[in-house]
Amino acid sequence: MNDSAFLTRALPLLASDEAAAIKLGTDRFRALRTAAVAAYPPMDDMRARAAEIRRHAVSNLGHYVAQFVENLQTVGGVAHIASNAQEACEVIQGLIDPSSLIVKSKSMLTEEIALNEALERQGHRVVETDLGEFILQLAGGTPSHIIAPVIHMNRAQIGGLFAERLQAPYTDDPTVLNDIARGYLREIFLSADVGISGANFGVAATGSIVTVTNEGNGRFITTAPRIHIAVLGIERLVPNFSELAVMLEVLARSATGQPLSVYTNVVTGPRRPGEPDGPEELHVVLVDNGRSSLVGGEFEEVLSCIRCGACLNVCPVYREVGGHGYGSVYSGPIGAVLSPLLFGEAAFGELAYASTLCGACLEVCPVGIDLPRMLVTHRRREAVAGRAPDPAASLARRYSGLALRPSRLGWMWRLARLSTWPLARSGFIRRLPGPGRAWTDHHVLRRPARRSFRRTQGTDSET
Ligand code: SF4
Repeated sequence: MNDSAFLTRALPLLASDEAAAIKLGTDRFRALRTAAVAAYPPMDDMRARAAEIRRHAVSNLGHYVAQFVENLQTVGGVAHIASNAQEACEVIQGLIDPSSLIVKSKSMLTEEIALNEALERQGHRVVETDLGEFILQLAGGTPSHIIAPVIHMNRAQIGGLFAERLQAPYTDDPTVLNDIARGYLREIFLSADVGISGANFGVAATGSIVTVTNEGNGRFITTAPRIHIAVLGIERLVPNFSELAVMLEVLARSATGQPLSVYTNVVTGPRRPGEPDGPEELHVVLVDNGRSSLVGGEFEEVLSCIRCGACLNVCPVYREVGGHGYGSVYSGPIGAVLSPLLFGEAAFGELAYASTLCGACLEVCPVGIDLPRMLVTHRRREAVAGRAPDPAASLARRYSGLALRPSRLGWMWRLARLSTWPLARSGFIRRLPGPGRAWTDHHVLRRPARRSFRRTQGTDSET
């Protein structure tokens, strides 16, 4: 029995059907991203520019929030600022009549604040209309990927679920499954009173919100119901449309390998007189929930995230266990950094160890967020708080004991070289005995060198 909540969740997922589906899905995302980046020579310049734009917006958060609120009001929208999850849910509950039917599009922020649960406690019916979220709602599950919430399920499972919950004839044909969901949701869209969406960006100069999606449900949500409520993290603002254009260049390429998502919606205020569609009321709930406290600190950089999911697809830990192993709305490397900051270090700080620190996440991040640096910072904080996992802490203690005694370190080095002699082939060890085997199942070790770095530098006191 281990006392790590992460390991308790993650170990049963290893080699499961869920993990197999995740590997397949992330492989596909990786290949699509690689091809999209290769086909777009300015990508590196755009990433650098996008990083600059996000850092600027985050370090001037107060200014851009005020500007966004003012301009949203000018175009007839209503801004609400919620300092935490409870306040955000209360604001939204206050905008909705008890008898309203609510349709929702995909939004990780509404998952973060547990909005559905809050609305359902009040007796509302909330229907998820993003296909992945719709499937999860039927299954009673939670998302396992930032942009592909149902990546852990295969089509046979989804066919079985539709047959059981929607009484549809069983099929595992994705096109037919799509049609079944579309037919079911169309009626609901037409009778919904309130549409709740997330937003990928807010444009401060115009008070516009921008949603980027590959499904048409987003446009239904923002146009058909009488009231549209958009839930936006306060950090997701860009100054103007020229900066938005840069973000759009990098977002879809990093997320799904598309030059642009199928639907990029810009909503600027509610319906104006004479317009054929659009909501009568537009409310934007700007959610802080701990974000502003990160500005100016060692984790400020994480606020630049645009939730593309690319870091999940390349993370060797995420690819083995999937999102449910993390026990948080946000999984993968971004989740391991963000979850302790949003939901508490005591409960989620250990996620910093769910990483090999290989740096793949930094390599693909479209806004250059140094996640490995922040994972190490979290690990330091865990160690200071006395929560570092035992093997890591005792290894670090033993190593520091050795490192402080160079002669002993030199002997240990020579001993390691001697004892690995029977195991090494051409300078590499491919199979260790005992518990070390688990490591060499996935890694190749280099045999300790004949002359250590200290000896070549002449600083080894034994030489
Ligand atoms: S940290 Fe970077 S790669 Fe990961 S989701 Fe955020 S923007 Fe995408």
